[in-house]
Amino acid sequence: MPREDYEAVIGLEVHAELSTKTKIFCSCKTEFGGEPNTHCCPVCMAMPGALPVLNEKVVEYAVKAGLATNCEISRDSKNDRKNYFYPDLPKSYQISQFDKPLCEHGFVEIEVNDEKKKIGVTRIHIEEDAGKLNHDDYGRGSLVDLNRAGVPLIEIVSEPDMRSVEEADKYLKKLKSILQYIEVSDCKMQEGSLRADVNVSVRKIGQKEYGTRTEMKNMNSFKSITRAIEYEIERQIDVIENGGVIEQETLRWDEVSGRTFSMRDKEDAHDYRYFPEPDLVAIRLSDEYIKNIKENLPELPESRKERYLAEYKLTQKEANTLTSSKYLSDFFEDAIKICNNPKAVCNWLLSDVARILNEKELEPEDIPFKPNDIAELIELIEKGTISSKIAKDVLEKMFENPEAPSEIIKKNGWVQISDEGAIKEVVLKILEANPQSIEDYKNGKDKALGYLVGQAMKETKGKANPQMLNTMFKEYMK
Ligand code: ADP
Ligand code: ZN
Ligand code: MG
Repeated sequence: MPREDYEAVIGLEVHAELSTKTKIFCSCKTEFGGEPNTHCCPVCMAMPGALPVLNEKVVEYAVKAGLATNCEISRDSKNDRKNYFYPDLPKSYQISQFDKPLCEHGFVEIEVNDEKKKIGVTRIHIEEDAGKLNHDDYGRGSLVDLNRAGVPLIEIVSEPDMRSVEEADKYLKKLKSILQYIEVSDCKMQEGSLRADVNVSVRKIGQKEYGTRTEMKNMNSFKSITRAIEYEIERQIDVIENGGVIEQETLRWDEVSGRTFSMRDKEDAHDYRYFPEPDLVAIRLSDEYIKNIKENLPELPESRKERYLAEYKLTQKEANTLTSSKYLSDFFEDAIKICNNPKAVCNWLLSDVARILNEKELEPEDIPFKPNDIAELIELIEKGTISSKIAKDVLEKMFENPEAPSEIIKKNGWVQISDEGAIKEVVLKILEANPQSIEDYKNGKDKALGYLVGQAMKETKGKANPQMLNTMFKEYMK
């Protein structure tokens, strides 16, 4: 059967580290990094007799995430022990939630081929992170660092609603931006604050039942997630086409070889011997409490986008790109408070700034200058102090050494020539050297004017005011 007759079915289990100041069951700090085993106490190191106390902020953040993804919030919820043995888990169980998660039955909306599609959110529950094993390069063993043990997580489980790599990518991006907007997680994937277990199966188009799935755990970059899904879809189709069957198993994606490897058989819920956590009380939430969080939810990407379309007359694409990153759209808003030219700020951010970020492999968060700097740059163009061509050079410098644009211009002698006498001098000089162009212009070839302006710009190293050049050339050729 041709490959086009198969479709992929994808479901994601996303773990996000919450940006609370302290851990989920003790008052140790959650800060990333630090000397190994310095953010620890008897509770998160699992000393006998130590008792957990639930951090209220964790519940609040999880409820925020639930409301922002259209979930129902459970009034009655609890914690459970998930038992498994691994050296980074000092208690030999993880406190998580089993049958009564905080949030259920939600959805996240994505846009595919200009159509909106809802991806179901099965549940969101709270749990604790495990420690980290540092493997000795000499093969003598592993050292465990418990700084991360007990850092609060939410796990967001999706329905198997995605049908392509593109949909999975869009869902994860949307989810990430929602979590950033509501400020419950910094979602730094390189620090592991956002990671996903990726479940993939394939089936024949038209078939009702899902195929057997495989799961790739702990993926933490968009690039490896998309590559891994692409690979896994192809691999599964190959197996089926060759008369084989897909084993339900946990796979490991290897970024270097670009393929998946079998890790172990898939475990079932009963393997974890879940039972209610006896050291914690049930979580009861009042309507009042939930209502209060709901009313204080900040603006979400979707409504911010609508506002940009209506208020600033941006295009769909511009509004989408800007609002997909909270950082970038906050940056945009701060800049237009100063220079009041949304179109221009948007253009600079999405073209030249985006291009430089891309070249340097940076995120919007890494922009080294402030919103008021880009606003100043635009004002300098509007006032005619610099041409937009020079402004591009100024921007490059702003990335290298963040100084005010006006400073950079002064230092490099880039101020635009708008003095009539000076412009006149250049115009006459260029006209004298190009009699043919004057002839052409008089014969109706408008291109000749562009050529002359170009020559004048060259002569002044891009500093002459192009509008003035234009007018003056026309005048003198009359
Ligand atoms: P577990 O917790 O054991 O991994 P779940 O049944 O809760 O298993 O499912 C986990 C994830 O796998 C969910 O995101 C779900 O959407 C996805 N999933 C379930 N069945 C399939 C399937 N046949 N193909 C792809 N994804 C699936
Ligand atoms: Zn602790
Ligand atoms: Mg799973």
